[in-house]
Amino acid sequence: MRVAAACSCSTALTPLPACPLVVDTSGLWFRPEGAGYICGISPPESEDADDLPLEPEHAQFEERLWPVLASRVPAFEALRQTRAWAGYYEYNSYDHNGIVGAHPQIPGLVFANGFSGHGLQQSPAVGRAVAELIVHGGYRTLDLAPLAFERIARGQPVLELNVV
Ligand SMILES: Cc1cc2nc3c(=O)[nH]c(=O)nc-3n(C[C@H](O)[C@H](O)[C@H](O)COP(=O)(O)OP(=O)(O)OC[C@H]3O[C@@H](n4cnc5c(N)ncnc54)[C@H](O)[C@@H]3O)c2cc1C
Repeated sequence: MRVAAACSCSTALTPLPACPLVVDTSGLWFRPEGAGYICGISPPESEDADDLPLEPEHAQFEERLWPVLASRVPAFEALRQTRAWAGYYEYNSYDHNGIVGAHPQIPGLVFANGFSGHGLQQSPAVGRAVAELIVHGGYRTLDLAPLAFERIARGQPVLELNVV
């Protein structure tokens, strides 16, 4: 299953210095992006069909996203939406975590995928680990063995609960 993400790019009148990535308890997330902010929310699983059309639902911004943004950050009451789009997350429905490392049976096939919405922050470490695996034949600085493909065959998920 893939998760469709509805995202909007918005600017607030009041700058928020050092604003981190914030994930609200509703599932809405926002963070700085260029001169403004980017925010998004995924539909509930019951409304997340695999063949959803990739069209933004523009009404969602005012009805669903803005009220949450304004209650979390009062300065967001004065924001305006500048762009919106919809897309698919690369998504591991098994345990919502990356699958990293060599395939157990196919020589030369190395996984680095399935990051489920948190791959950007993990990419420096994953890139280094996969490079070590290819060059040295094993991890040197960070042991990413818990993310190996074999966990799926063994039925041992590494469950990520914070999925946006
Ligand atoms: C709106 C949005 C906001 C996000 N914000 C954050 C964040 O704040 N922090 C964070 O950690 N993560 C964030 N993520 C998640 C992060 O972007 C992904 O986890 C990360 O990009 C995954 O990297 P990847 O290389 O595994 O996959 P991708 O970046 O999806 O790259 C896969 C590539 O494979 C190509 N491809 C697909 N199929 C084929 C094919 N058959 N043949 C050839 N090429 C193919 C695609 O075109 C694509 O270029 C966000 C994602 C979205 C959509």
